Amino acid sequence: MLLSRIWQELTDLLYPPRCLLCLAPPRLLRDSFCEGCQQALFVDPFPACPRCAATVGPYSQVSHGCRECRSRSLGFDAAMRLGVYEEQLAWAVLRMKHAANEWLAELLGERWAELHRSRFLSLGVDALVPVPLHWRRRLQRGYNPSAALAWGLGRLLHVPCWYHVLKRIRPTKDQKVFNSFTERVNNVKGAFWANSVVRGKHLLLVDDVMTTAATASEAAKALKKAGAFRVTVAVLARTGR
Ligand SMILES: [Zn+2]
Ligand SMILES: [Zn+2]
Repeated sequence: MLLSRIWQELTDLLYPPRCLLCLAPPRLLRDSFCEGCQQALFVDPFPACPRCAATVGPYSQVSHGCRECRSRSLGFDAAMRLGVYEEQLAWAVLRMKHAANEWLAELLGERWAELHRSRFLSLGVDALVPVPLHWRRRLQRGYNPSAALAWGLGRLLHVPCWYHVLKRIRPTKDQKVFNSFTERVNNVKGAFWANSVVRGKHLLLVDDVMTTAATASEAAKALKKAGAFRVTVAVLARTGR
């Protein structure tokens, strides 16, 4: 015990801990992120729409959605986010695109669950379902960041993670090619299929980034078609302010 402490202190001295995102020294030796990154990653200063997770004004009426989503038909029932897709959260998402950084997606999932545990548990979901990649895209990438995020969330929340109940049954173009919600919906229309084991369940659909909500909406529609009772979306980073 004493030896391992001495060894730990020696390694800290030789290799001082660094923030896993920006390499600045953390406040406490055991922290994974520096104070600035910790704040930027895990504290969302803006109110968000409970239906689509877009940023809304502090006094906006959002009981039926916000200005952005009110007129849209969405496949899911509610949405929550860790934060806005900018600065540290955007860097983290970009780094998560590389398979070598799978650990970062898992770690962010764990910290997200740890810091927002009561909010997650109050949902009372039966299982987590990551938004899947088409197998060809997954092969190119080496892994699915949303699945790694869901793994981290599930591990800390003690909620099962169902990796194979939702599939992408056809490849789609990158959503970045399209701007509007309608174009994006058309691009992913019929791209998902879900297994009927989801029947009657409340699922938390996990994704890394949400821009217009078209992909999550189509994925949720497939889960509903297979009998899911309710689908809530948890997205790490939501674009737009
Ligand atoms: Zn940092
Ligand atoms: Zn909204």
